[in-house]
Amino acid sequence: MPVVVVTAADRASFKRCRQQWDFGAALRQNLERRQTPTLPDLDRAVRDALAVYYFPGMWDWDRTIRLPLVGQELKRALTRQRQRQRQRQRGAADSPADEENWQEALDQGQALLDRYVAWAPDADRFAPVLVETDFEVDVLDPVRPDAALVTSVGEIIRYSGRVDMLAVDAHDAYWIVRHRVADGDWPPTEQLVADEESLAACWAWEHFYIGMAIAGTIYNELRLPSGSDPEARRPGRQLRRWPWLRPRTAAARPAVRQHEPSGGGRSVPQHRRMYAQARELRQFKPIEQHIEDGFRRTWLRRSPADVAAAGRLLGQDVADMSRENLAVYPEPSDEKCPPCPYLAPCQALMNGTDAEPILLAGYRKRPPEPPVEGRLGGRAWSLGRGAAPPKFSRRRDEGNGVQGGA
Ligand code: SF4
Repeated sequence: MPVVVVTAADRASFKRCRQQWDFGAALRQNLERRQTPTLPDLDRAVRDALAVYYFPGMWDWDRTIRLPLVGQELKRALTRQRQRQRQRQRGAADSPADEENWQEALDQGQALLDRYVAWAPDADRFAPVLVETDFEVDVLDPVRPDAALVTSVGEIIRYSGRVDMLAVDAHDAYWIVRHRVADGDWPPTEQLVADEESLAACWAWEHFYIGMAIAGTIYNELRLPSGSDPEARRPGRQLRRWPWLRPRTAAARPAVRQHEPSGGGRSVPQHRRMYAQARELRQFKPIEQHIEDGFRRTWLRRSPADVAAAGRLLGQDVADMSRENLAVYPEPSDEKCPPCPYLAPCQALMNGTDAEPILLAGYRKRPPEPPVEGRLGGRAWSLGRGAAPPKFSRRRDEGNGVQGGA
């Protein structure tokens, strides 16, 4: 049966502004700008590097082997971005300002990860299960929730997205982890609570892997030093480059180990056992937040009712998106419009002029995504192997209270 896929990004765009969604979504005009600014996406590059840091198969490895790979991945991620942007600009050479931007992003990313890998071992009270992993699930019909939503011509509609990491805590509860690089003040916690995409990911994962309950989302935020921050880069300041090669003490090793003594992980029945436990643990405090040294970790639990409601809301949104007589209109605001890639054609439409010449000159149909290079810890891992073992070290929880775990 033919399938139509709605991505998490499409839905976010639809909720932000229908006109923006209509210009950019794959199911609509699917347009992108011909010329895109050649700016590094440091958030993306740091998430790529963290996927290597938390790669489940290396979680217990000696840090002297594991950590240099993290720095290498940061550099590779920025190089990949730069190559992709050059291809889009048809090989146009970078200006000196571009060169400076890329070097600055690399320096900032290295300094940030340098501090993170020194901080994280004492803060991580989970073991990674999967990193950078995709899901795709049928969207449920909001009118008949026991059936899949279909288009007017009978195509099944699926919802797809990617999670930065699936992790299991010392209480056997599963969490979706989102890494974010913050530039400036921490976003309000209410913004995390209202994050529909993350909540929808909890619902989607429970339907993608039937029998596994998700306890909630862990927001793992890394803040770039600001200009007034003593950690900020100053002209001539020598950045520390990967001092991780220093030998570390046993105390700095992961608190939740994966491969002992099972020799390779859990079986599916163990995951099903966790299903019941994670449901019970949802009765715990809903939000726990820790801010330290420029990092913020927020454990946000979601109740079964929250997760079910997120599935229903997703169904309603996608049903709206697929309606044939859907009204499309701009939803301007000071916050949404300045960074919008469709500002010029949208302004033309709002002024009652023809947007077509602007679209023809400055936009093109989005080309298919290039094949994604194999990602460490992505789909290759099976939930029957490689996860955390039945016995966790509770060392960090004992006498210290459970700070963030379930
Ligand atoms: S410029 Fe503003 S109103 Fe127009 S599409 Fe973009 S976000 Fe929507």
